[in-house]
Amino acid sequence: MSSNARGLLFIVSAPSGAGKTTLVERLVEQLPNLRMSRSYTSRLARDGEADGVDYNFVSRERFEEMIAAGDFLEWADVVGNLYGTCANDTERLLEEGFDVVLVIDVQGARKVRAAGLDTTTVFVMPPSFGELEHRLRSRSKDSEEAIQRRLQVARAEVAAFADYDFVVINDELTAAVDRLRSIVVAERATLQRMWGAVETIVRTFS
Ligand code: 5GP
Repeated sequence: MSSNARGLLFIVSAPSGAGKTTLVERLVEQLPNLRMSRSYTSRLARDGEADGVDYNFVSRERFEEMIAAGDFLEWADVVGNLYGTCANDTERLLEEGFDVVLVIDVQGARKVRAAGLDTTTVFVMPPSFGELEHRLRSRSKDSEEAIQRRLQVARAEVAAFADYDFVVINDELTAAVDRLRSIVVAERATLQRMWGAVETIVRTFS
């Protein structure tokens, strides 16, 4: 449903390991007019990650230059690495009429809200702390220290769930993708979003 209307901005946050990236990748496959924003990061690529696909991987120095140049809509330091959303990339997609999902941490979500942008925010909750720990250990080649740091950050992040418009518990992937898709589809059908199209239809009645 590509239209001339400006796209909607969605934010999905979750603790690292809660499965939000997989969820959003599935969602984007199902909804053609939805794009996932590709963040910049100063962290090194993990095995299997590619520059320009998972992230735009840049040096810390380059990232700091981009901060100074005002290139980021938001950026945050997450367990020692810098992550940011490029303002121009996001704006271009929205202007082209694509709905955009930012998969960013709770600090980033706060900054986007504080910038006064109209967003729909979704918090993806792991089913339990034990399950998050299990997922982090099984998927990652991170050191024990890094895993412990991520779990510590997760404790603080889940406490931020009340700042979000919607919550999706990622207990089972397919069901969680369905719930996330319902949120996007419903936001596309609000009166405000549909106003232009509806006025055109109503005129045909007169
Ligand atoms: P990871 O290193 O596991 O890929 O990501 C670590 C954390 O950084 C995740 O919580 C992820 O949502 C967050 N993150 C990824 N990209 C961005 C971004 O552009 N901005 C912010 N604020 N956080 C991000």
